[in-house]
Amino acid sequence: CDNHKRSRFGGIQMTKINSLCVFCGSLPGNHPEYSVQAALLGAYLADQHIRLIYGGSSDGLMGTVANATIDAGGQVTGIMPRFLKQISTESNNLTDLVEVSTMDERKEKMSELSDAFIVLPGGFGTFEELGTMLSWSKIDIHTKPIALFNIDHFYDSLWQWFVDAAESEFLPLSDLKLMVNASSIEQIFEYFSTFKHVTEMPHA
Ligand code: AMP
Repeated sequence: CDNHKRSRFGGIQMTKINSLCVFCGSLPGNHPEYSVQAALLGAYLADQHIRLIYGGSSDGLMGTVANATIDAGGQVTGIMPRFLKQISTESNNLTDLVEVSTMDERKEKMSELSDAFIVLPGGFGTFEELGTMLSWSKIDIHTKPIALFNIDHFYDSLWQWFVDAAESEFLPLSDLKLMVNASSIEQIFEYFSTFKHVTEMPHA
């Protein structure tokens, strides 16, 4: 992919992250740590000069990440379907707002513009976005790293479901390497820095 700038460093192929897509809840959740970590991530992106790509709303954790990046002087691109603008609160001060027609077009744009994905706690929308990026990675529609930001064990049960699906032979164990189950921002970026996209095509 053109967005990926790779260089050799100490024998490890590094993936340079210039822009990063965050999927997360349009609600804040009931545990303060979700918002604390979302804000830390937003500020980290600004500090590292990594552009935030996200859903464009100022609601819930989405707004927390975006505001933290903006407040720290970072670059933020929101991608919003026109019809959603009526029910969601658009974030002010975005660097860019890209309007699209459908949810599918939005996901394609988010995937195209980003070098990696981080999934914070969220509901159905977040779950659907994670599923899409994982299934696209599995069949090489994109080859970018995905991190499940497992704040305060939020994703323990989903991760267990992935392990169960692998044990039931609905997915090769190696597919679990298409994402990291991480409890800290440091762990996520360490995974990104050494990520190599390897898939076992189901009918190869
Ligand atoms: P959910 O996890 O159901 O709260 O959905 C959050 C995800 O779905 C975000 O990553 C967005 O891309 C999308 N989404 C859901 N609700 C909204 C909203 N009100 N405004 C903008 N995007 C939303």
